[in-house]
Amino acid sequence: MRALRTLQWVGLVLLALGVGAGGLWYSAFGRSKPIVDGQSVAEGVEQVKDGFVSLFIVDAGAGKVVLVDAGNDQLGRALLAALGKRGLSASSVLAIFLTHGHPDHTAGCNLFPGAQVYALNSELPLVGVAAKVTHPLVDGEVTDVDDLRVETFAVPGHTSGSAVFLARGVLFFGDSAGASKSGQLMQAARIFTADPTENVASLKALAARLGPRAGEIKELAFAHTGPLAGLKPLLAFARSH
Ligand SMILES: [Zn+2]
Ligand SMILES: [Zn+2]
Repeated sequence: MRALRTLQWVGLVLLALGVGAGGLWYSAFGRSKPIVDGQSVAEGVEQVKDGFVSLFIVDAGAGKVVLVDAGNDQLGRALLAALGKRGLSASSVLAIFLTHGHPDHTAGCNLFPGAQVYALNSELPLVGVAAKVTHPLVDGEVTDVDDLRVETFAVPGHTSGSAVFLARGVLFFGDSAGASKSGQLMQAARIFTADPTENVASLKALAARLGPRAGEIKELAFAHTGPLAGLKPLLAFARSH
């Protein structure tokens, strides 16, 4: 009897935790534009849904790709399936660019021991042992990986070493911003963010920096939501904050 009662208590506690987590989740992401698995965000850029997060496969040359983030799944089921659909395997992944060190973005790194790993220097403590960062980046750095050129922008706030990457005309925000269902750019989800004020200031600074280059930006891509077209949503965010 006692064992049964204990089990009932455990069940109730788990249920309460589940409902609580669901509520938090909704408050953070309920207004978000949903992720579409396998969506082509721009030419040579595919968004892969990995549960509640996503990552991006970016073409880097014939049969070679680069990842932006590595997902939440240590076994990389969605990611490996997406690579397999193109006849690619783990060894086709030349490099992984980590937008930041939260575990829902780094868990898949273990599957690509041959890949170079890039992250901002200031994020190394948070990446920790989840990945061996082979190339610590600094703000403004331009990196060539085979045919792909990747530009790095520091956007501290969500984490102190959060980065936005620009490649193939797509700006990859990781968790530093998201898209609302109504097509607006939203700041990083507050409850998961180290410094929301700094996050907003970084997004405004990025808008000021990239405004003169708006013609280069085709799409804005986010880890936990679908994408937005052009630089305009970032510029509009900067004007209204
Ligand atoms: Zn995060
Ligand atoms: Zn995340």
